[in-house]
Amino acid sequence: MSSLALIHSDIYVPGFNENTDEYFDKCPYKPYERNCIRYECRCKAGAYFLNNASYKQHIKSRTHKDFIQNYKKYYKEVDEAQQIIKDLKAEIELLKRKNTNLKNQNNKLLEIIEDMNDEDEFEDCL
Ligand SMILES: [Zn+2]
Repeated sequence: MSSLALIHSDIYVPGFNENTDEYFDKCPYKPYERNCIRYECRCKAGAYFLNNASYKQHIKSRTHKDFIQNYKKYYKEVDEAQQIIKDLKAEIELLKRKNTNLKNQNNKLLEIIEDMNDEDEFEDCL
């Protein structure tokens, strides 16, 4: 059941204010959301929250506040790198499909050329 657990769990990423260049706590849940997924918080090993109430409780801790204040220093690059990896994976997937299509097309063209060559040889015999 580990794959199922993975789907319902994510890593908490705070909001980012481009004007102030600062990270801030942004609740990942909608106001009355049901079936909330579990978020793990990197402020402390094993820290997590499950819904609005536990999120609000969690962000009050000193450890978490320090974490948000230092977020840029420790995690910004990691988040960016992860986004880049995700984008590149999607791009690779597209290119793989494109490559397969081109290979198929290439094989068909080779067959046509081979057939044409065969016909030429036949003509030579005449
Ligand atoms: Zn935290």
